[in-house]
Amino acid sequence: MNNFIPVNEPLLNGNEKKYVMECIDTGWISSEGPFISRFESEMAAAVQREHGIAVANGTAALEIAMEALQLQPGDEVILPTFTIISCAAAIVKAGAVPVFVDSDPLTWNMDVEQIEAKITSRTKAIMVVHIYGLPTDMDPVLALAKQHQLYVIEDAAEAHGQTYKGKPCGSFGDLSIFSFYPNKHITTGEGGMIVTNDPVLADRCSSLRNLCFQPTRRFVHEQLGFNYRMTNMQAALGVAQLERLSETVARKREMGRLYRELLGDVEGIRLQSTHTDYAENIYWVFGIVLEDQIVQSVERVTDALKARQIGTRPFFWPMHEQPVFQKMGLVSNERFPHAEQLARRGFYVPSGLALTDQQIHIVADELKAILKGE
Ligand SMILES: *Cc1c(COP(=O)(O)O)cnc(C)c1O
Repeated sequence: MNNFIPVNEPLLNGNEKKYVMECIDTGWISSEGPFISRFESEMAAAVQREHGIAVANGTAALEIAMEALQLQPGDEVILPTFTIISCAAAIVKAGAVPVFVDSDPLTWNMDVEQIEAKITSRTKAIMVVHIYGLPTDMDPVLALAKQHQLYVIEDAAEAHGQTYKGKPCGSFGDLSIFSFYPNKHITTGEGGMIVTNDPVLADRCSSLRNLCFQPTRRFVHEQLGFNYRMTNMQAALGVAQLERLSETVARKREMGRLYRELLGDVEGIRLQSTHTDYAENIYWVFGIVLEDQIVQSVERVTDALKARQIGTRPFFWPMHEQPVFQKMGLVSNERFPHAEQLARRGFYVPSGLALTDQQIHIVADELKAILKGE
């Protein structure tokens, strides 16, 4: 598999090694150590926030964020059905009920015009998730949240360096979260962060991250928390990665442009919008949706790509079709046609930062040949 083009390969060629070695040389390898607070404050500043709370991964960040809202059983949280399980799982684990909204077929984000109809007297929050490189249209969401006094949770796990009307993604929610998994624009291997301007929520999040130890009487607990701490070594990677965020975003956009140039007029495929009136795509991943005129299934196409040494991933499978939530009685028989189509007909091609232009050409050529039945 020597020439295999993986769906993602990170790039760690800045100060990553130097900073991680510093952790080892100084012995600061646990969650105490200078890179943690440095990464927290630099990341928070990058998205115009007062507080950053570094955690073990993006899923942990969502769980802590939902727990910090202190919801009651039966409270409802509105979110897109087309997202990763972490979002809905965090809502369910906090004792609340997820309420789903369909996707916009062009941006693949939550169709914000469908939110209002889902608001009830039990609604407590809206969770927005910026999908695959384009942000959710925030103004209507923020207006509804204000009108109905709802929290906004912003999942910016795929949107480091993205902006909405010029303001950073991650700056919009009462609590916003990032993931630093290796396919994200900033990686710490595993890692995540919650950012906020609210000092009370920030305190709750940092306590929940650390088992709710108390400042005095450390081993006496008033509340159950998690051990979701990040290590100093992970934060060291994060500091180095953050130094290069604007370069990273520029390169992702360049990769997106090249893919579009090569695939833009292929019959029968649909790509995510290049831009909206509030943002330009940063192509977290380069997604492709097969239109009905392509008779081959996604499995067929991605198997063929794999045989030609090219890695892919299917799109998210929507939350309302998750067996786990069906078994829990959390879904009705409501349909979400756009999300269902994305899930059934979408996949993404290699999009990692280590990908070269030459590899992008190979991926595009092979895909075109497969779609033509060659
Ligand atoms: C990656 C991702 C997460 C989860 O992050 P992990 O660090 O993998 O737990 C959450 N939400 C979205 C939208 C993601 O893309």
